[in-house]
Amino acid sequence: MVKLEEHKHLTENKPIEKAELPSKVFIPLLQHLGKPLDLIKVKAGDDVKRGTLLATSDKGLFAPVHASISGKVTTIADYPHPVSGFARAIAIEGDGKDEACPDMAPRSEEEAAALTADALKKIIFEAGIVGLGGATFPTHIKLSPSKPIEDFILNGAECEPYLTCDYRLMVERADEIIKGMKLVTNILKPRSCYIAIEDNKPEAIKLMQERARMFNWEVVVLATAYPQGGEKQVIKSCIGTEVPSGKLPFDIGVVVHNVATVYAIYEAVYLKKPLYERAVTVSGSCLANPKNLLARIGTPVKDLIGQCGPLVKEPKKIIMGGPMMGIAQYTMDGPVIKGTSGIILLDEIQEREQEETFCVRCGECVQNCPMGLNPGLIALAISKDKLELAEEYGIMDCIECGLCAYLCPSRRNIVQAIKAAKLRIRDAKK
Ligand code: SF4
Ligand code: SF4
Repeated sequence: MVKLEEHKHLTENKPIEKAELPSKVFIPLLQHLGKPLDLIKVKAGDDVKRGTLLATSDKGLFAPVHASISGKVTTIADYPHPVSGFARAIAIEGDGKDEACPDMAPRSEEEAAALTADALKKIIFEAGIVGLGGATFPTHIKLSPSKPIEDFILNGAECEPYLTCDYRLMVERADEIIKGMKLVTNILKPRSCYIAIEDNKPEAIKLMQERARMFNWEVVVLATAYPQGGEKQVIKSCIGTEVPSGKLPFDIGVVVHNVATVYAIYEAVYLKKPLYERAVTVSGSCLANPKNLLARIGTPVKDLIGQCGPLVKEPKKIIMGGPMMGIAQYTMDGPVIKGTSGIILLDEIQEREQEETFCVRCGECVQNCPMGLNPGLIALAISKDKLELAEEYGIMDCIECGLCAYLCPSRRNIVQAIKAAKLRIRDAKK
């Protein structure tokens, strides 16, 4: 693991601020790991309220999506998508009233405590919750393991540079996160619970330690390093066990959820609130006022950037997510989706743009790969179209942390090549 420049000072002391109500939102049908939603519940011209179910499915991995503002559905068409380039989205023209669905009434402590594991999972599913750390795996599936769970880990590491929205949630919503964690333990019934936080977040550590004490949950303080917050790395740090190659945390009796996901679980259960907004860090040295914003899903990225401006430098690259694992955006028209933890504007110096050259066999990528892979060798196999060889070299264990590309003196786009090759391998096996 590697110590990176953090750049968290830009927003770590900025409380989460409500973003301005967008006048129009674009809700993509693909905001989860899986296929786009195919059962669309609205049509152009329909009136919707905040929280109205817009689309769902009845097969495969999916999580439903909901309206994030009240207004009228205008179109259902292809629109810029921050991950896949273009994807079908439901556009809603706001009426400025921000009216909520009437069924979004709070539940009492007693009502929440009386819910069975199955009832909780149904609520979480219907709220459309996915992994908000960026993985976007449907949460209700992750809460339905096929074998008993020994350990549950709340992941508050937030190891990506710039991002501070999880940190702010832990500081500002500690009680709610603990309630969300209690709900998760009511479902999974693990033997032990851990809260993993990097040591660059002392205030969050203190707050979580105070609250975790009464449940006997352990707060594990991690050294600040990248990619300390990767699921497999957090598991190793908390319980000392490695997830074997080709296996999932489920297989060794562990479930990990991100802080924002657990907070969304709290909101779904206690407030009957579907996932229609999330905290997003909007940062980078190009912005005069970097912020943590509570943004409605579907808000165009340019609207949020406008609320953190003016631009003090021309951005060379706009990234959705953190700078290491995030995705470069070709347009500012794309919307915030459930997996959007950050919008980062990098200037010319930060972007370190440089031509890709030959591998000089320096070994940096091998020495620092957190999964113990040989990224240079994998990239070579991919370049020769030898995907079977790349598989033998362990390509499917790559967590796409981006360290190899970041450290490579020849600026080789190793992680991009790996991501594309993994998709091809998965497609070939379907
Ligand atoms: S090969 Fe994958 S896991 Fe290893 S450093 Fe590169 S991106 Fe990270
Ligand atoms: S870091 Fe780059 S130059 Fe060094 S061995 Fe890996 S691929 Fe080659």
